[in-house]
Amino acid sequence: MTTHTECPLCHDDGATVLFRNAFLRVIDAQEADYPAFTRVILNRHAQEMTDLNQTERSGLMSAVYLVEALQRRHFQPDKINLAQLGNMVPHVHWHIIARFADDKHFPNPIWGMPRETANTPDGGHATACARRNAQIRQHLPAYHQDITQSFTALFDEVAGTVPEQTRFEQTLQRITDR
Ligand SMILES: [Zn+2]
Repeated sequence: MTTHTECPLCHDDGATVLFRNAFLRVIDAQEADYPAFTRVILNRHAQEMTDLNQTERSGLMSAVYLVEALQRRHFQPDKINLAQLGNMVPHVHWHIIARFADDKHFPNPIWGMPRETANTPDGGHATACARRNAQIRQHLPAYHQDITQSFTALFDEVAGTVPEQTRFEQTLQRITDR
């Protein structure tokens, strides 16, 4: 495995690990303003998606879409943002972020300008954000447990570390059919 001596994702988990196998790990990003923010991180060091082989690319995206499906199931967000930036840490990792029309930055990316609050001098938007995040936090334990269970179902030891497409579709179907 290539390990870049200065790459933090080659040395640290990145935050709280919800699932890990030889191929990837899924973590709770622990962002204060965005409690429903999960990352899927490739374990080995690779800078771009085209550094992965086809099986790895497909398996990694299956993992990202599984998190997306679980966020829809548990939080019913207005939108889900998928982002793969890596400008600060050029080691392949995906951000999966449940977004709400009343969150801090909507409709901007969470790394962009905060929402214009000039029309709510009473702090109404901040109150709405706080209420929203309190609701999300109530559902976080069940969401995190579901990530661990669904990924354990997706990646079994027999099938190897990268999920077969049919197995992924079956796992996704079980989530969306509930
Ligand atoms: Zn790395």
